[in-house]
Amino acid sequence: MPNNTSALASLLPLVGAAALTVQGFRRLRATRESPRASRPAPLQPKEVPNPDLRPPRRKKIVPDSTCHHCGTSIPGRETLCTPCERLAEGATNSSATTALHWLVFLVTMTAIIGGGWLLSQ
Ligand SMILES: [Zn+2]
Repeated sequence: MPNNTSALASLLPLVGAAALTVQGFRRLRATRESPRASRPAPLQPKEVPNPDLRPPRRKKIVPDSTCHHCGTSIPGRETLCTPCERLAEGATNSSATTALHWLVFLVTMTAIIGGGWLLSQ
């Protein structure tokens, strides 16, 4: 008999979920069937013209310049064209930098893992 009671008790959440679902469907149907015109329109603030309306700023037109490296025509403020910038970045990112990054990574991981090993002793 206690087994039957516990089985019935375990069904209660399912019954509750089914009741909520049915109630949700009823509400959804009610909102779909009711005409929307019966609801009052939400109040909107009136549009007031901006009193100090200035003319929009114009972009300064900068004359095109040339790349310092290869002489290609590029937009105003830049000094290097895109291929020359990539070449310059590639020159600074050398294999020594990568080796240094690996060294720092290995030292950091050794410190973390070694510290964990020492703490576990
Ligand atoms: Zn260039």
